[in-house]
Amino acid sequence: MIQHPGNVFVVSAPSGAGKSTLAQRLVATVPDLIFSISFTTRKPRPGEVDGRDYFFIDDVRFDTMVREGGFVEWVQVYGHRYGTGREWLQKTLATGRDVLLDIETTGAMNLRRAIPDARMIFILPPSATSLEQRLRSRGKDSDEQIAIRLQHARHEMELYHAYDYLVLNDDLELGYRQFESIILATRAGLDRMTPVAQRILKGF
Ligand code: ADP
Ligand code: 5GP
Repeated sequence: MIQHPGNVFVVSAPSGAGKSTLAQRLVATVPDLIFSISFTTRKPRPGEVDGRDYFFIDDVRFDTMVREGGFVEWVQVYGHRYGTGREWLQKTLATGRDVLLDIETTGAMNLRRAIPDARMIFILPPSATSLEQRLRSRGKDSDEQIAIRLQHARHEMELYHAYDYLVLNDDLELGYRQFESIILATRAGLDRMTPVAQRILKGF
């Protein structure tokens, strides 16, 4: 089990629901919230940067990391492998900052075993049709990749009930506000705020 002073937020969604859009805005807006950069054997999409969006590595290096226990969790989806690096996550959480992980449902369930108090957030698309439209309008996956992602979407959707929060990403502004509220409300929880309240109390 990973010991940590910071909050861990896990976000999952069927591909195309708007998870990256929401997550990128969140980490750019909310202070002390760090995006967990996964390792993947997938090739970068146009505009993606190594070390910012993912650590893009080859199969040999991925195999080595698996053998050496370098992942908290890893999966194979859409024909590629994706994993959360153990060392990076442990180091970042030890600094007390909050971490946001964008991972698919199987990995999310495995991560919760390592970090049982992780807050689990699922992004819902308004409908199956709009999910397909968003995947096509993103324009970054081939028709074949889009078909694979749509096939997998139903399986991901069926696991919604394993999450703590469901954010409906229909209107982007409303979806974003819901998402941000979950982070801020968790930070305001009694367990997290007790040391702050005690410090203030000492001044009376
Ligand atoms: P994911 O990370 O879940 O695969 P993206 O964030 O890449 O999805 O979003 C998929 C596409 O849908 C992008 O083109 C994005 O601009 C668009 N999108 C995201 N949220 C909304 C929304 N609320 N309304 C309309 N389009 C959206
Ligand atoms: P994409 O190829 O669209 O960037 O990501 C495909 C899927 O892989 C998304 O559902 C994303 O959340 C998931 N993913 C990205 N990184 C990881 C990871 O480290 N672990 C797991 N389990 N899934 C990941």
